[in-house]
Amino acid sequence: MAEYQTHQFDVLIVGAGGAGLRAAIEASAAGVKVGVVTKSLLGKAHTVMAEGGMAAAMGNVDDRDNWRVHFADTMRGGQYLNNPRMAELHAKEAPARVRELEAWGAVFDRTKDGKILQRNFGGHRYPRLAHVGDRTGLEMIRTLQDHGIHQGIDVHMEMTILTLLKDGDRCVGAFAYDRERGRFRIFHAKAVVLATGGIGRAFQITSNSWEYTGDGHSLAYHAGAALMDMEFVQFHPTGMVWPPSVKGILVTEGVRGEGGVLRNRDGKRFMFDDIPANYKAQTADTEEEGWRYTQGDKSARRPPELLTRDHVARCIRREVKEGRGSPHGGVFLDISWIKEKLPNAAEHIKKKLPSMYHQFKQLADIDITKEPMEIGPTTHYMMGGVEVDAESQMSTVPGLFAAGECAAGLHGANRLGGNSLSDLVVFGKRAGEFAARFAKEHGAGAINHSFVDKVAKNALQPFERGAAGENPFAVQYELQEMMQDLVGIVRVESEMESALGEIAKLKARAVKAGISGNREYNGGWHTALDLDNLLTVSEVIARAAIERKESRGAHFRDDFPDKSEDWAKYNLRVTKDANGEPKVERVATKPLTEEMKQVIEENM
Ligand SMILES: Cc1cc2nc3c(=O)[nH]c(=O)nc-3n(C[C@H](O)[C@H](O)[C@H](O)COP(=O)(O)OP(=O)(O)OC[C@H]3O[C@@H](n4cnc5c(N)ncnc54)[C@H](O)[C@@H]3O)c2cc1C
Repeated sequence: MAEYQTHQFDVLIVGAGGAGLRAAIEASAAGVKVGVVTKSLLGKAHTVMAEGGMAAAMGNVDDRDNWRVHFADTMRGGQYLNNPRMAELHAKEAPARVRELEAWGAVFDRTKDGKILQRNFGGHRYPRLAHVGDRTGLEMIRTLQDHGIHQGIDVHMEMTILTLLKDGDRCVGAFAYDRERGRFRIFHAKAVVLATGGIGRAFQITSNSWEYTGDGHSLAYHAGAALMDMEFVQFHPTGMVWPPSVKGILVTEGVRGEGGVLRNRDGKRFMFDDIPANYKAQTADTEEEGWRYTQGDKSARRPPELLTRDHVARCIRREVKEGRGSPHGGVFLDISWIKEKLPNAAEHIKKKLPSMYHQFKQLADIDITKEPMEIGPTTHYMMGGVEVDAESQMSTVPGLFAAGECAAGLHGANRLGGNSLSDLVVFGKRAGEFAARFAKEHGAGAINHSFVDKVAKNALQPFERGAAGENPFAVQYELQEMMQDLVGIVRVESEMESALGEIAKLKARAVKAGISGNREYNGGWHTALDLDNLLTVSEVIARAAIERKESRGAHFRDDFPDKSEDWAKYNLRVTKDANGEPKVERVATKPLTEEMKQVIEENM
């Protein structure tokens, strides 16, 4: 039996984004010993990239807003596949979580009378997103990190979890390698919270950071936990399309919230052409009404550019496919036009959207105060994830919790913008609280050392194969390209079946990955070890997407282009069967209470 450096914690948190840090703060406040591991440096987790804001029905800008409207908006946006209890908890608790961040030092933008300012975002009926310009994630991470560090959380940076450890059915820790020196570590814990974010790096065009290789989804699945809603991958409508080196980088929905409009090659605002029936009553009839809405006129309805992301992304794709796209395969997003309406438009844009201004100036040599941007859909967010209990965030494996983007339930078939940052703090807090409670009620389980040795041996095999093995970067690249083509924004059965064939071939190549060099900060090795996660989530996504024979939310099937009443009754759950293969099952959606039905009815 090999000796590994071992750390003992009551609660181990995997991930230092918004969800992980909020969970860590709550668990440590409950008086237990908390460790946090992160693949990157503290402060660098993907949450730092969040731009537009966090949704919370505080009613600071429009006093008609309250949790009931937020709940109804979230359910409608998720096409009623959401876990309604999670949507209810989220809508009710988000305002308190925002105020708590403020109390911990977050400096939000302000209304004229000194309240936290809230902006418009797609699918939200009223201005609801608390924000800090277009750098909200940075402020959130800074605040949580400062607060957490002062509470005595033990952080292990540049540390990648390779596998979860179990004692019988229960999760009792995790096994990791440190990226800097390439040495293995055991994290022995009474409870583990996964807060590892998303899966965007399984696709070629993505707004997601390098960390998003689906690790938490894959770790949980291999540990026997159930995954849910994996067919629902969000393609954000507005990513950069030019120049090629920056393709996929996000252009925040905040641009449209501030009055930005979408036009095709002919200058037409095509979003007025296709407004879904269930949003007709809430959508502006004219461009003029849409503009008034973005400027806070309470009698106006939202412009169609602020419909949900799934719909806007498909409309853009249609324009491009039918030959009305921009020169580089997207459409135009124009905020500069507001100079027709506002005397100080350029200054206003720079103040409200400073990152977007600099992003386009530096990366594409475009001045967004003067000219339109070229944009197109980009893989952005994973609605699917670890199935969790709504109150506690515990997965189907005792002692294993999940929160944030790697957990499923809140968003159903489509997430509304801004509902992730609030998700992180609402359910991060809950995961931390309940993981601490679990840790207090259970002793430390036993570590299976022969399993650990097997995992370590397997992880080192790429060195043994050396340069003669498969190139891990090539396998990763081919997977991303294939997923983009065959399991992307518009899907058909035959293509997804061929994706499964390709995934099988790539799996066979991945286990032969070889690398040269040594264990110290070896990017090739890290990529080789990420491959299993990427391939696992890709396969699960493809299998769930084949199974759902309808189009709903972010999942669009060319061979089943309509919503089906029957499929409205089911979520899809994926577990690993006795042969190690994914098993996809239909499970009935969680029922609505009478009060929830009434809230939805009154907000139609
Ligand atoms: C450009 C951009 C803008 C966005 N803007 C908004 C917005 O305005 N509003 C909004 O609500 N949402 C927004 N989102 C979505 C939102 O930012 C994310 O969904 C959210 O930040 C995810 O947070 P998280 O805590 O779940 O995970 P993350 O912040 O991604 O953190 C994941 C953590 O897990 C760690 N990790 C992963 N795997 C391992 C492993 N194997 N071992 C150890 N550690 C691991 C990572 O290192 C990281 O620390 C945006 C997304 C993008 C890409």
